[in-house]
Amino acid sequence: MPKKPKKTTEEKVIEDYFPLDEEDAEHATEKQVKETIPDFKQIVEKEYKKPERSSLERVEKIPKIKIKKSKATRKVKYSPKKIKLKKGGYELIVTEKPQAASKIASALGNPKRKDSKGISYYELERKGKKIIVACAVGHLFTLKQNIPGSEIPIFEISWIPNYLARKKDFTKKYYDTLLKLAKDSGSITIATDYDIEGEVIGLNVVRFICGQKDAKRMKFSTLTTQELNKAYDEKSPHIDWGQAIAGETRHYLDWFYGINLSRALMNAIKTTGRFKIMSIGRVQGPALNLIVQKEKDIQKFKPEPYWQVFITVDDERPRGRSIASTELRAESGAGKNKLELKYNQDIFDKSKLEKFENIVGKTAIAETKKTEQVLPPNPPFNLTTLQTEAYKFYGLTPSRTLQIAQSLYLGGLISYPRTSSQKLPESIGYKEILKKLAKEYNVEKLITKKKPVEGKKLDSAHPSIYPTGNKQILAGDDEKIYNLITKRFLSLFCDSAIIDNKKVSAVLDELIFSARGASVRKKAWMEIYPTKLKEIEIPDLKGEVKITNSKTEQKETQPPKRYSPASIISQLEKKNLGTKATRSSILETLYNRNYVKGKSIEATPLGISLITTLEKYSPIIINEKLTRNFENEMEAIQKLKKNFEEKEKKVIDKAKQTIISIAKDFGKNEKKIGEELLKATNELRQQQKIENTLMRCPVCKKGNLGIMYSRKTKRHFIACDAYPDCTNTYSLPPRGVIKKTNKVCEECGFPMLMRLLRGRRPWVFCFNPKCKTNEEWAKKREKKEEKENEQV
Ligand SMILES: [Zn+2]
Ligand SMILES: [Zn+2]
Repeated sequence: MPKKPKKTTEEKVIEDYFPLDEEDAEHATEKQVKETIPDFKQIVEKEYKKPERSSLERVEKIPKIKIKKSKATRKVKYSPKKIKLKKGGYELIVTEKPQAASKIASALGNPKRKDSKGISYYELERKGKKIIVACAVGHLFTLKQNIPGSEIPIFEISWIPNYLARKKDFTKKYYDTLLKLAKDSGSITIATDYDIEGEVIGLNVVRFICGQKDAKRMKFSTLTTQELNKAYDEKSPHIDWGQAIAGETRHYLDWFYGINLSRALMNAIKTTGRFKIMSIGRVQGPALNLIVQKEKDIQKFKPEPYWQVFITVDDERPRGRSIASTELRAESGAGKNKLELKYNQDIFDKSKLEKFENIVGKTAIAETKKTEQVLPPNPPFNLTTLQTEAYKFYGLTPSRTLQIAQSLYLGGLISYPRTSSQKLPESIGYKEILKKLAKEYNVEKLITKKKPVEGKKLDSAHPSIYPTGNKQILAGDDEKIYNLITKRFLSLFCDSAIIDNKKVSAVLDELIFSARGASVRKKAWMEIYPTKLKEIEIPDLKGEVKITNSKTEQKETQPPKRYSPASIISQLEKKNLGTKATRSSILETLYNRNYVKGKSIEATPLGISLITTLEKYSPIIINEKLTRNFENEMEAIQKLKKNFEEKEKKVIDKAKQTIISIAKDFGKNEKKIGEELLKATNELRQQQKIENTLMRCPVCKKGNLGIMYSRKTKRHFIACDAYPDCTNTYSLPPRGVIKKTNKVCEECGFPMLMRLLRGRRPWVFCFNPKCKTNEEWAKKREKKEEKENEQV
């Protein structure tokens, strides 16, 4: 088998800049990653006729805006079919994804695979009873407004099937199959992922497709045969109503916020005679605010010079034999103990440097202090810590890590990843898993404990993330994440590591200098789990030492560090903004809307201006306290035992009041808001234009060539910005992301471009079709086609 090409650093870096494939862009409402269908963009975009030729980020000029009641907002009627369950009918088990259906069916019996409209389902017998396992494919329903129109605020919405809401919908076949199977069933069991999204998916299938008020519920954290059988035998007689209603409330809130606020922004821009798609959401606002405040701190920051003073000391006296120092002396040369120490303080007043003149040659008094540090293993992984570590070790973005973890879960290899728990209860059967994996990883000697280390965080639905002990051959990022999870799990059962810390200080009059060393005495769990601990060996010094050298380094204070994709996610978790399942997709939306950019996350002029404008005219949108309160209310619903609907209504009413007052704020200042946002949009456009400009147009010699994107053909191309005076264009490869490079074509002098495509090596090419490099390429292609034709 051919080896997969290794990723270059450049490609890795750039992948992080583009956390999404182009195809799956644009979530406006804050939904989980598993919600695959872009919702909002379609709703709002269809209301306008798009100009034919538009660049990626161009602000489209539309002279007169007429909002027509288009097909997209016409009233959609949906009344679910009424179904009566058949007495003596089979049990229908509904899963969230196709892969889960196959796993559950195989776990419960010997299934026969059946097919309806190309959708697989499974029939099996268990203890003489017929069971059919069929699947949804994530959400089959979506919220949509009841009455057409784009005024705000709007609150009249209902659930309708995706196939009625969207043009290109692939979920209808799944809907139809479930409907067909429900008709002949005698009872319904929901077996979607056990979390709020899974419960909403299940609830909608139960009430809208199966026409039932309730159903049985299987609850599980892994797709292993053992656990699925247990979940089946011990299934709950009801769906988890607290979870279902909490989830539904979240959908309502996200819709209200996402649609109303985004419309408010766009209406404001429309008052200037322009159009631009913008969005802001319930969690998006406060999340962007965090990044923008950091950016403002960085902009405000004035670097200050300061100085650090170092001395080198030499201990030339013969010394008594201590084990540590003998070893070190052997390394650092016979009889000599040279060491560099730093003055204890940073010096901001340059005149104070005088004190350090003429210290070379003097004698200082040295002292060595040793301390022992006991480091227990880190607690088990939850989603956030897995995402943070995967970013630290492999540079994988949080959303990519979640995607990989989800597929490992569906493969039965790890437990459910969308968890905040740091607990590992004995009931998951970790003894067996440990035995198996310790042997496989050849670390049996390091496993010394019967019970694992645990953290404080709890999750009522799932334990922490752990490997199931099932085996499968993995490669690439999947393998990395799987190994990281397994090693973390194994490390929980190891002894604490012991670190020897050493501090050597040297005192000359009132001046104190010091150096620190550290070495690992006992690695224990660190032998299994990767750690980034730097060992520094320094000699033991005691008594009189001679200062043989001194140096002063001038430095500058550094601005605050920007967030990384991992640190912003931890920060959102700390502030209880969003949920473990939504945080990574919220971050993606900020990238997609051009509010932020870069691997170390930088707010763009547009992002900064959006926050500044909102701060001025409608600060409630970015108020993180309000967002957090809603978050708490929804968590409270989840824990309720009764009166769910009452509480749901209360929370929704509160959200409506908030949005009404935001709409009022906007109404008062629409024009000002619009003008400020437009200014920022133009600034961003200018910045991007500079970033995208390739060269002076060789045809008209007036305009500049730049990379554009056509929404019509969904392709990138190169065009002259003197359009319509100049219509010079060049075509580009159809797939992937096109980036500028610093290279120039050796043959023709055109700037070289790079095409990035997930799973492929970056391809650097010349876009000039008349260039010699492309002629050769064209010839090769011709030959290849000829050959193919001959073969036909
Ligand atoms: Zn031109
Ligand atoms: Zn060329």
